[in-house]
Amino acid sequence: MDLDTVREYVDVAAAGGWRPGDAWLAGGTWLFSEPQPHVRRLVDLTSAGWPPLRTTAGGGLEIAATCTVAELAAHPHPLFAACARAFLAPSAVQRVATVGGNLCTALPAGPMIALTAALDGVCLLTGPGGERTVPVTEFVAGAGTTVLGPGELLRSVTLPPAALARPAAVRQASLYPRGRSAALLVGTRDGAGVTLTVTGSTVRPVRVRGADGVDGIAADLWFADVHGDADWRRHMTARLAREIVEELS
Ligand SMILES: Cc1cc2nc3c(=O)[nH]c(=O)nc-3n(C[C@H](O)[C@H](O)[C@H](O)COP(=O)(O)OP(=O)(O)OC[C@H]3O[C@@H](n4cnc5c(N)ncnc54)[C@H](O)[C@@H]3O)c2cc1C
Repeated sequence: MDLDTVREYVDVAAAGGWRPGDAWLAGGTWLFSEPQPHVRRLVDLTSAGWPPLRTTAGGGLEIAATCTVAELAAHPHPLFAACARAFLAPSAVQRVATVGGNLCTALPAGPMIALTAALDGVCLLTGPGGERTVPVTEFVAGAGTTVLGPGELLRSVTLPPAALARPAAVRQASLYPRGRSAALLVGTRDGAGVTLTVTGSTVRPVRVRGADGVDGIAADLWFADVHGDADWRRHMTARLAREIVEELS
């Protein structure tokens, strides 16, 4: 949709710092889907030219915030393509929607949130006060909210090598075929057992140990909207958790 309050569009390098009324623009697939009456200027992050994927010195993977869902899905790690399939969007949208935009929109159904939270992702944030790092599990604070402060942006998410090496499995439930994720779980196995990262059915990512851990999720963390009520999501989460543990055991 037209954003008729927007007066200016600039590349990030030419922005001269953040000011009130600015919005970071990545793929624009969410930004242009809703009215944004407070936005006066769009600051285009995709012009920064950050390499989408970079292997770190220690063997981890740094994912630029501007890496698209399609670029990530092309990575050989099986979980990447599996989580991209949980992104309810045609390939034309996946080619422009970014990993950073998905995290910053912070929808409970955000598949890039599920993926990066499950693989112990750490967000690099940069803003007027300098740089800081935050685990993905803490970056998303609730449905549609993050810990980003004014003028702060998500630069990248780094996945450590140990997390990339763990056996992993993903399960998704929707009210209808190809529907938005009402529950999206990623399990990983290490020496201590299976850790489940619960998204979709909860307002923010929740990590539990083993299928029984789902029973301990606090009542106020379960999410409900037109894509499923909280009781059904809790039921599906418990069922998918058992399936993942069985697969990984
Ligand atoms: C057909 C369709 C289907 C969709 N399906 C899903 C789905 O299944 N699951 C889901 O979660 N979402 C879905 N979405 C919503 C949206 O497309 C995704 O969340 C997408 O990943 C957003 O990325 P983007 O690059 O387009 O972000 P943009 O629209 O450019 O930005 C989204 C928000 O994040 C901010 N932002 C972007 N990048 C940064 C950054 N690096 N630092 C700080 N702030 C930033 C922007 O200012 C804006 O507020 C869908 C959208 C469409 C149109």
